[in-house]
Amino acid sequence: MTTYLGVCGWPVAHSRSPAMHNAALAAGGLADWRYLRLPLPPELFEATVRALPAAGFRGVNVTIPHKEAALALADSASDAAREIGAANTLTFEPGGAIAADNTDAPGLLAALGEAWRPAGRTALVLGAGGAARAAVWALRRAGATDVAVWNRTPARARALAGALGARAVECPESADIVVNCTPVGLADPDATFKALPLHADSLDAGSCVVDMVYRDGGTRLLEAARARGAGVIDGLEILVAQGAASFERWTGRRAPREAMREAVGAIAST
Ligand code: NAP
Repeated sequence: MTTYLGVCGWPVAHSRSPAMHNAALAAGGLADWRYLRLPLPPELFEATVRALPAAGFRGVNVTIPHKEAALALADSASDAAREIGAANTLTFEPGGAIAADNTDAPGLLAALGEAWRPAGRTALVLGAGGAARAAVWALRRAGATDVAVWNRTPARARALAGALGARAVECPESADIVVNCTPVGLADPDATFKALPLHADSLDAGSCVVDMVYRDGGTRLLEAARARGAGVIDGLEILVAQGAASFERWTGRRAPREAMREAVGAIAST
């Protein structure tokens, strides 16, 4: 019998998760598992998700605009999902319960790895949406000494910082770890250093720059950081890291990260 996984979103046509997870299932020898794309408008989300376990589903990823609704319908939630206020992973337990997780947060920490462990370091998060909430929570939980949050709309930065123990700033200073959680740099690379409050010169060898955005050929932000000797982590690595955490939650097996990287990289270059 086939065991199903999937990604629920609206729209979800451009998600790279099906290619990434099907590559992981194949590389992991899980021949009877399939990962499907599930386009679900908000009004169908809850009823459809509740029907999935009976249809052979073990779990689903959840993306825009369903992350809050996913948390609300779950029977239990990890600390990360509850405190961030959003879930990107639902697991259907054998007894019928639905468990909510947020793997965006551990995904960021996994991508930072030992080399850029946040403990004892300062951080700057750009943005105040869903990705920023997960990043701030992860950095605080992992022991960053100071997490500053800048956002185009300052009131949202203040609300996020107040809720998650960070500090809202209007003119950011340099930090050891910089995380871009805005879409800036995706559509117009030239806008990067105009729309974000960063100077390319402030990125140096002692810092690590993470860009949630991914685009073929890399982003201007990471290009500038790399040129100055800073560590860089791109959005595809974050995508793989959060996907690997979901895969391990559902299957109980170690995720084949290299196969996942190859699958998303192949899409990026098409
Ligand atoms: P979101 O909830 O819609 O938040 C978007 C944030 O970006 C807001 O803080 C918004 O500021 C800011 N922003 C939007 N346009 C801007 C501009 N032109 N200049 C400055 N700030 C701008 O989105 P999200 O879910 O957090 O995602 C943010 C980005 O991260 C997206 O590009 C998404 O694709 C990417 N992402 C990547 C991964 C991955 O796996 N690599 C995971 C999650 C997200 P305002 O509050 O002022 O509107």
